[in-house]
Amino acid sequence: MGMSSLFFTTFPGLTGKIIDSVTSAFFYFIVHGLFHYIIEYGASTMELLMNKPYLYTEYYAKIYSEEFNTVDCLEEALCNSYLYEHARQFKIDRKFLKELLIKQGPGYNDFVSYIGQSFYSGIRTILSQIKFCKLKSFRNDPVESLINELDPEYYLLADNIPIWLHERAEIVR
Ligand SMILES: [Zn+2]
Repeated sequence: MGMSSLFFTTFPGLTGKIIDSVTSAFFYFIVHGLFHYIIEYGASTMELLMNKPYLYTEYYAKIYSEEFNTVDCLEEALCNSYLYEHARQFKIDRKFLKELLIKQGPGYNDFVSYIGQSFYSGIRTILSQIKFCKLKSFRNDPVESLINELDPEYYLLADNIPIWLHERAEIVR
């Protein structure tokens, strides 16, 4: 409610428009979260290709959680960059959004470093963080094509979701 209220009172094109402000606030959160999902999608694809089922789990514990709310939390920077790049699609003024996002904490406000073509080098870096479970990898493989960010609808199709299939169920203790 706070975000839609902010849009309703200050954002160009949304001031005084209740339904549009609520809709734009909804997409504000959804689009940021969508890119978290897209990163996990790329991680799952790597896990399947490499036959290593815990790449994302290990990255989450040793990198994301350790660096959360610091300048090294690349995942939040990329999610905000993705949000910024798609803002016009849900009627949010990018100039105002930029001012809003810059006031957020470390990591989140580093999205400005990943606008435009830098976004793709950011994707390459985070996939290497996940692949090697290292914050600063000795190499960043050109695997950004694992993330097809140009076609968000791709991720809405159930048959495009990478999943593990096990031949035998194991007893969970
Ligand atoms: Zn986030």
